[in-house]
Amino acid sequence: MQGKIVKGIAGFYYVYTALGLFECKAKGIFRKEQKKPLVGDLVEMVPVDVEKMTGNITEILPRKNTLIRPASANVDQALVIFAIVKPDPNYNLLDRFLITMEEQSLPCLICFNKQDIATEEEKQELIEAYGKSGYEVLFVSGKLQEGIDTIRERLQGKTTVVAGPSGVGKSTIINALYPQANMETGEISRKIERGKHTTRHAELFALSEDTFIFDTPGFTSLNLGEMEKEELQGFYPEFTPYEKYCKFTGCSHISEPVCGVKDALERGDISRVRYENYKVLYEEIKNRRKY
Ligand code: GDP
Ligand code: ZN
Repeated sequence: MQGKIVKGIAGFYYVYTALGLFECKAKGIFRKEQKKPLVGDLVEMVPVDVEKMTGNITEILPRKNTLIRPASANVDQALVIFAIVKPDPNYNLLDRFLITMEEQSLPCLICFNKQDIATEEEKQELIEAYGKSGYEVLFVSGKLQEGIDTIRERLQGKTTVVAGPSGVGKSTIINALYPQANMETGEISRKIERGKHTTRHAELFALSEDTFIFDTPGFTSLNLGEMEKEELQGFYPEFTPYEKYCKFTGCSHISEPVCGVKDALERGDISRVRYENYKVLYEEIKNRRKY
């Protein structure tokens, strides 16, 4: 029987199938190949006890892609959620999320929440900062359910990983998108963790048969890992069209003369916030301690 891994906890994998949710162990030959099942994997599963809904995963079907951060398979895009206010957006962190997704070739959608308590000026500042980044920017209110239908449209037919710092309203938005989420989480918790104090785990929720959201509660901050400083600019998609005007190949767009990116910045075609953040992150990588 085929299914999709929606959650993995302590060696157990929770697999959605046509018959419901099975608690599975990984028993297949793929274990010899050191291939670890991931949330999002399509798998072959053999029921062990249909009453207790337990089974064994025997095969991992070919993956469309594999993400390292957050660990998952078959993800199509990322929804990066920040608040317009409360908390004020941390641009540096937002760019880290975008860079991490770019690094993994994942299209990104930016969603700014809490528009019900934000002023027009505060929204304008974000449009100024991210409007020219090439990413789609949505303003919503999870609380008032404003803009939720637009998010739902963008998610349609795809598997979307949700990222963002805590307190910005991710759970509120996910609950608005998927009202059953809370209930089902409770059900799984009762079944597996038997009333123990439960931390939220990364979990896929099905919005429909072919639409999933991957909620990643622990995925709230980032370092830039093993990235080289020269690679960083490649993850700013809005720089790319102007690089051909740089005099030097491999221009870092920081101190070199005749730089297409800096010219675009001066003309206002590239956002100052994004560019300044690029410089900060470039310096951070450059000064990173080498072990
Ligand atoms: P998470 O940590 O990102 O999952 O954030 P939560 O969904 O738990 O929300 C954090 C806080 O922000 C809660 O007190 C929510 O009630 C509040 N909140 C969430 N969405 C909105 C919104 O659209 N407007 C306002 N005013 N508050 C919101
Ligand atoms: Zn340049």
